[in-house]
Amino acid sequence: MSTRTEALSERFEAAFMRNYGVPPVAIARGEGSTVWDVDGRRYLDFIGGIAVTSLGHGHPALVEAVSRQVAALAHTSNLFLHEPEVLLAERLIGLLGGPARVFLANSGTEANEAALKLAIKYGKAHGKSYFVAAEMGFHGRTLGALALTGKASIRDQFGPFPIDVRFVPYGDADALKNAVTGDCAAVFLEPTQGEAGVVPPPEGYLAAAREICSAAGALLVADEIQSAIGRTGRWFAHQAEGVLPDVLTLAKGLGGGMPIGACIGFGEAGTVFGLGDHGSTFGGNPVSCAAALAVLDTIERDGLLEHAESMGRRLADGISAVSHPLLKGVRGRGLWLAAVLTSDRAARVQATAQEAGFLVNAVQPDAVRLAPPLVVTDAEVSSFLDAFPAILEAADA
Ligand SMILES: *Cc1c(COP(=O)(O)O)cnc(C)c1O
Repeated sequence: MSTRTEALSERFEAAFMRNYGVPPVAIARGEGSTVWDVDGRRYLDFIGGIAVTSLGHGHPALVEAVSRQVAALAHTSNLFLHEPEVLLAERLIGLLGGPARVFLANSGTEANEAALKLAIKYGKAHGKSYFVAAEMGFHGRTLGALALTGKASIRDQFGPFPIDVRFVPYGDADALKNAVTGDCAAVFLEPTQGEAGVVPPPEGYLAAAREICSAAGALLVADEIQSAIGRTGRWFAHQAEGVLPDVLTLAKGLGGGMPIGACIGFGEAGTVFGLGDHGSTFGGNPVSCAAALAVLDTIERDGLLEHAESMGRRLADGISAVSHPLLKGVRGRGLWLAAVLTSDRAARVQATAQEAGFLVNAVQPDAVRLAPPLVVTDAEVSSFLDAFPAILEAADA
């Protein structure tokens, strides 16, 4: 007799396009940092839906806000305004220390698509014709965002693209300086590269990028879709270097699990779009906005930035302290880390972690990503650290 997981997996395999492969766990429900699969097995969720479930699963504040809002008003389209979107835009501007203007979308790739259209329009107005992005960077899967994505394996087969993008090695300020001339409209960068394996740049890189863009009159677009909303122990990762971008994109953790994206333009960049230049039917829908407000309120009320910083340090220190031939070290900051391996065994580690009751993600062949909810407890971190050496040992066997 097959398990429920096996039965669902077979049906998934038959019904879906093959872009994902069949995921290894069928999750039925969650509470805090814990999820249960359809066969009743329990896991500690140390990936959080790819850094999305900031408050964990089933957080009362999120449930209450979403339930109340969906009962009152689920949708208006952009033909009508509503209070939750205004509150959210004001709140984000307040956290960033405006002056800024916001566009709300449904996802990360859409937030970047908005940023790209904005940058194209800015470029045309200033006689600038090309874009710069980083090798191994990830900005999404729509054609515009994909054109900016520095991973040939997912990009090249869908080209050519309608924009000229030049790629530079991430973290190399000299290469960036050489690539950004007066004809460059915008530079798209992640403050730490997420999909590349949680790769932080050398200190000073973002500040250098800011200077280079300002000198060339290019927009600096910070893709903080994965890095923001407390993930690194700050609201926004770019704040660590005191650098203000011209455009900021958000998604993932902002909605705590509800789909929402934001493209925020500072100063002149906030006024590039004119009437009719961009839009979305679902973007900024009241339910997702209410969810995002609950996420932001809860992070503030419960001191989750400090908590993410201290739990992240415990987790990183604990991993660093493990001595195992398969473990090279740990990268990242806050609750956004990669355990870096000495060989390409991340998929094995993901599987042995799952066997041991932990969900983690083989983000690169040699890097295991950890992005637990910001509410992860001390005891949960300890439980992962206690299990980690045996997980590595099993993966190395
Ligand atoms: C996830 C991600 C995206 C794409 O977001 P989607 O919501 O999957 O469209 C873009 N940029 C970065 C840095 C991301 O991590």
